[in-house]
Amino acid sequence: MTARILVVDDIAANARLLEARLSTEYYEVKTVHDSRNVIAIARNWQPDAVLLDVMMPEIDGYEVCRRLKAEAATAHIPVIMVTALREPPDRRQGLFSGADEFLSKPVEHEILLARLRGVIRMKRVMDEWRARDAATAALGLRASQSLDEHPAPAITLIVDDLLIRAHRLQDVLARQDIKSILVQHEAEAMAALEGQDFDLITVSLSLTLSDPLRLVAKFQSNASTRETPLLLIAEHDQRDLVIGGLNLGATDCVMLPLDESEFLLRSHGHIRRKKYQDSLRNDVSNALSLAVIDPLTQLFNRRYLTSYLDRLCAEIPSRNFAMLVIDIDHFKMINDRLGHPVGDRVLCSVAEILRANLRKSDLISRYGGEEFVAVIGAMADDERALKVAEKLRQAIEDMTFMADIRITTSIGVSVYDGGISAAALIEQADAALYDAKRTGRNKVMLYTPKCGDENELWSVAGS
Ligand SMILES: [Mg+2]
Repeated sequence: MTARILVVDDIAANARLLEARLSTEYYEVKTVHDSRNVIAIARNWQPDAVLLDVMMPEIDGYEVCRRLKAEAATAHIPVIMVTALREPPDRRQGLFSGADEFLSKPVEHEILLARLRGVIRMKRVMDEWRARDAATAALGLRASQSLDEHPAPAITLIVDDLLIRAHRLQDVLARQDIKSILVQHEAEAMAALEGQDFDLITVSLSLTLSDPLRLVAKFQSNASTRETPLLLIAEHDQRDLVIGGLNLGATDCVMLPLDESEFLLRSHGHIRRKKYQDSLRNDVSNALSLAVIDPLTQLFNRRYLTSYLDRLCAEIPSRNFAMLVIDIDHFKMINDRLGHPVGDRVLCSVAEILRANLRKSDLISRYGGEEFVAVIGAMADDERALKVAEKLRQAIEDMTFMADIRITTSIGVSVYDGGISAAALIEQADAALYDAKRTGRNKVMLYTPKCGDENELWSVAGS
């Protein structure tokens, strides 16, 4: 995993040492010695993580971190504080200022790499959601939101088979109104995932009933927990397990004996990020479905159809498919005489018939007004396309809407066999539809180069 790391240390030798170590791991590294420059460099260079010294003249690491986290352009960049200070109050101050991780000097190389991989993985997931969110916002579908807006109720899964330790975690979380469910081994944990979405999972590395690393791997491979923050609870002599867990995808680690406020700060930070990701995901998928689904009939809309056809024509030029433009005859009369609510019900009923008579792999859309377009997939030729269109026409003619309303449709058909654009294909089907309308309605017409030629039509109609 290559990534950009910004190393901040007022002592050049320290920064160079870290730079040398990280470069051997193929990280792209930039070093800064003057803490006053950090914000500007982070803003412009957009690193994937910042390794931040705490004790610095001018502006100390806590303040640099606060400023990074306060600015929109840098708030999403994970910060790992690196310091000689070891006392819990210092760690808490680091977490309070928004640091994502806290490492003690001298930094153990393996721990540093495991932590870096962890925060970078976290950032990548966030980047992806931020990008999708920005894309939907750019379409004007919703207002982009910030990390601070998040709903409160949260639930944690605690995996531990030493009850005294587990209950302590539960008590601490409960003080912040974070609910928790306690399970003691792997099978119980997997059962708990059914029907419940957790905001945080803690796994004790001292489990005796299950292999804790196997459990971490399992949470990582499970679709419902892959993006759930996973916090390891470790004893000081479990260094190798910690590294193993982080490398398997655990998000973070808390050492025992438990520092309650540190545990809470870390849990709270992870839950907050998880909630933010959840809300982005929901907003993006809602916005996307709003953008491509016709609200009345629940069919795809014209926008989706157009991009789908463009892709079909551009990416698989050798594949055949047929396009049907289906238009309800005299629909304006239904709306005028019976009112728009009845018109809407007719549209929904036609949509139902189309759904019932076409395959799942065929794309059905409401093209606009009373016009529908069906794209019939692979291996469609003239004969099959006409057969399908005739079946649809007949099914709609046979249907009685609301006791006594009967409607008919005219259908234009064009078959794609490479070489033309999506727009030209739609024009062809439209020309065929126009001919069907002009020659009496309630019929299916296949596009031929003569379609739309009125002289030709009248001679056909007259014959
Ligand atoms: Mg220093």
